[in-house]
Amino acid sequence: MSELLLRDARIQGHEGPADLLIRDGRIAALLTPGADGPDGFAGEVEDLNGRLVLPGLVDGHAHLDKTLWGGPWVPHNSGPGLMGKIRNGQERRPDLGIPNADHITALLENMIVCGTTHVRSHVDVDPLVGLGSVEAVREALGRLDGRISAELVAFPQAGMLISPGTETLLEEALKAGVEMIGGLDPAGVDRDPVRHLDAIFGLAGRYGAGVDIHLHDGGTLGAWQFELIIERTRALGLGGKVTISHGFALGDADPATRDRLIEDLADVGIALATVAPARGALPLRALTEAGVPVTLGNDGVRDLWSPFGDGDMLERAFFQARATGARDEDIELALDAATRGAARALGLEAHGPAVGDHADLVVVDARNAAEAVCVRPRRSLVVKAGRIVARDGRLA
Ligand SMILES: [Zn+2]
Repeated sequence: MSELLLRDARIQGHEGPADLLIRDGRIAALLTPGADGPDGFAGEVEDLNGRLVLPGLVDGHAHLDKTLWGGPWVPHNSGPGLMGKIRNGQERRPDLGIPNADHITALLENMIVCGTTHVRSHVDVDPLVGLGSVEAVREALGRLDGRISAELVAFPQAGMLISPGTETLLEEALKAGVEMIGGLDPAGVDRDPVRHLDAIFGLAGRYGAGVDIHLHDGGTLGAWQFELIIERTRALGLGGKVTISHGFALGDADPATRDRLIEDLADVGIALATVAPARGALPLRALTEAGVPVTLGNDGVRDLWSPFGDGDMLERAFFQARATGARDEDIELALDAATRGAARALGLEAHGPAVGDHADLVVVDARNAAEAVCVRPRRSLVVKAGRIVARDGRLA
């Protein structure tokens, strides 16, 4: 039995300070401060001195395989537009040695010290790299030995129908145990949304996989693809296992279309993932109030798509709050999309911190959630499954 006592903790939503007793990876009890723990307690004790305990941060949309983190600085010279970025990534990837398990490990380490306890990563699958990116990400995760949990999405970054052989490789990835299947702009990139989505959803149904589709297409084209995804999710009973990433069409739809789509997303059980873009933010409050779970993610970190970011989900929550509202309740909503809301979107159960929940936690020197997002203090302690995995900005 493993035990850990976090003394004098301030817990979001909990009246007054408490001592958190963690046993075998779960929060076993919230005790009156000052207790020595239960009789016979022989575990580790950490004094938090009133610091704030938040649920472990969840990155619901990453691209771990693409990162150059920890390597030399590579000047960003991607062409304009989505297709320019796709071509640039495909062409330069071999020369730069991407994917690279060392870079992926280094980025994951930084995510851990920043308090992320779970990540969903899209991983490129195409005829050039085959399943090499899946293998590199798995190798990096293995090196980190449970300090962070992950789920992978087999992602046709270069398109599926326009990139012959990709559909077969996506199926190979699912056979190899990849948890989810991805899609990419069924109309804008693959030019045939019905065929694209029928193939993706067909594979998801056959292998019991989740679905997470990148949908950058905006306007009526994007809104129509929302409808196609909603139809297929409903028909196959995949509610709770489908995510639309980006979903820019929702942000720029007219109010009537937006409200209708949000109602249908809630009804059928589709989540949204956003990376808090500078323009075209999702209507976070309307989605939350309708019961559509939203997860935030860092997207690419220092890769051929973007030189920005460091994997810190508090920073991502800060960007989201900057885009959607500065009141404390708006900032809390943005943080929720990086913690409990993200867990709902990803189907992670018991993402605390309440008694019985998984002990995935991050401790910060802040008085409340809004201050944590605005100040983004160094993470004093990160706990994954009841084990201290980082302390004061360093891996434990
Ligand atoms: Zn993405």
